Amino acid sequence: MKKIVLITGASRGIGAATALLAAAEGYAVGINYRENRAAAETITDTIRQRGGEAMAIRADVSSENEVKSMFEQLDREFGPLTALVNNAGIVGELMPLAAMTADRIRHMFDVNVLGSMLCAREAVRRMSTRSGGTGGVIVNVSSGAAKSGAPFEYIDYAASKGAIDTFTMGLAKEVAAEGIRVNAVRPGFIDTEIHAPGRLDRMVNLVPMGRAGTAAEVAEAILWLLSDKSSYTSGAFIDILGGR
Ligand code: NAP
Repeated sequence: MKKIVLITGASRGIGAATALLAAAEGYAVGINYRENRAAAETITDTIRQRGGEAMAIRADVSSENEVKSMFEQLDREFGPLTALVNNAGIVGELMPLAAMTADRIRHMFDVNVLGSMLCAREAVRRMSTRSGGTGGVIVNVSSGAAKSGAPFEYIDYAASKGAIDTFTMGLAKEVAAEGIRVNAVRPGFIDTEIHAPGRLDRMVNLVPMGRAGTAAEVAEAILWLLSDKSSYTSGAFIDILGGR
């Protein structure tokens, strides 16, 4: 059966590394991005040059209409989805809660939580064996911040990832009998563009391994969760924290 995965936020960082690895493992890959079309097309072109299948799809995951349209484009181009990686996510400027505006907190939850739930909903509607699908897999990208709380930096972000953890546990139970597995990874300090300048260098002192992780190291865990090798694993979390 053709393996089709949609990876949100796949133009850069962890999503892009996951897209390259998924393509190498035989998935047709939907490369979602929000605004950096050139970056998304670079990943898509790389996959095609290596003989794989990929399409770049622009959609802001916090927009219900754009999410629906993204899934419809995938249906038309590749056929029914078998896997979703809810990876798109944002942080914010570092600050304590006392300095945060309501708009900032709302936007954080719109992208990180609402976006993941809308994409998962569209995926479940297509994958569920109860509605004629063949089952599937969802991997949510949470964060070590869900457990640390990220005090003085962005507890709104940490709380949004806490919501992702709870969402992962609940949805895993809700759809287990419909042939769908739902798991999450919790990366720690991973070397991508998401960090404010200098933050990663400061934070690696807290990591027992003494270094930041790479996006490719996170992608390996995601690909295991997507694969049949994890066929009895659902509602589970893989911490990728360098020993923290
Ligand atoms: P990144 O390098 O900043 O890349 C973010 C990706 O998300 C980009 O492809 C971006 O698209 C996309 N994106 C942002 N907002 C979006 C929206 N509203 N709709 C659709 N796509 C959107 O981030 P990253 O470090 O790879 O992080 C990926 C995930 O891992 C996030 O969920 C993050 O919270 C989580 N995480 C990262 C770390 C870390 O240390 N890096 C640690 C723990 C968890 P454009 O290119 O178009 O902007």
